[in-house]
Amino acid sequence: MINNFKNFIKKLGIMGGTFDPIHLGHLFAADTAYHNLQLDEVLFVPSGNPPHKSGHVVVDAELRLEMVYLATKDVPYFTVSDIEVKKEGKSYTVDTLRAIKKMPKYVASQLFFITGLDAACGIATWREPEQILSMCNFVSITRAHTSLKKFNSLPKKLREKVILLKEPELEISSTDIKYRIQNHKSVRFMFPTEVFDFIVSHRLYDWKG
Ligand code: ATP
Ligand code: MG
Repeated sequence: MINNFKNFIKKLGIMGGTFDPIHLGHLFAADTAYHNLQLDEVLFVPSGNPPHKSGHVVVDAELRLEMVYLATKDVPYFTVSDIEVKKEGKSYTVDTLRAIKKMPKYVASQLFFITGLDAACGIATWREPEQILSMCNFVSITRAHTSLKKFNSLPKKLREKVILLKEPELEISSTDIKYRIQNHKSVRFMFPTEVFDFIVSHRLYDWKG
């Protein structure tokens, strides 16, 4: 019985995203939340069929999941969940949070949903935003190209529930990485080496070397 309690996570960070591909911006956001908020674990949840990106070409979910495993495997407090990848149809954050709350390991956890400021600025358009904010602590990290002015224009009842972490802005995005690969620009140091090697060996994003 005592051993079982050891497995309970008290403060769980959740880092959702398309991760197409995962990069240092995601890892830094997760790690900075871990340190600032004294979390016990950060769970990465790559999306299957993302609700906000229909129309965008995304790399197969299993490959994105694999890259998330590779990027996080050396950090003891980073874990990965395939719940959205395995789920049929679209996954909404509110449903994912409900599913995580039911998992035995996290049933007693306090949840911290970690985002970049661009994502937080869009929260009013998410499914059941007020429900999301009541189920978790919503954390947001400053991000290049998203002004605090934009954040401050969110409805007060949403904005005041967001924990804002002002941290150095890493000007990296998955969109830009794809653009850079297609235009033969350097991307090697924008993610852990294993992710770079995976992209090269699977020739993702039209990798031509
Ligand atoms: P895309 O360009 O396709 O939107 P992205 O780089 O924004 O990709 P996502 O998978 O959309 O990556 O982001 C997942 C989460 O990580 C979001 O909450 C996003 O705001 C956050 N995030 C991504 N990149 C950074 C970064 N450089 N700094 C801080 N947060 C980031
Ligand atoms: Mg994004």
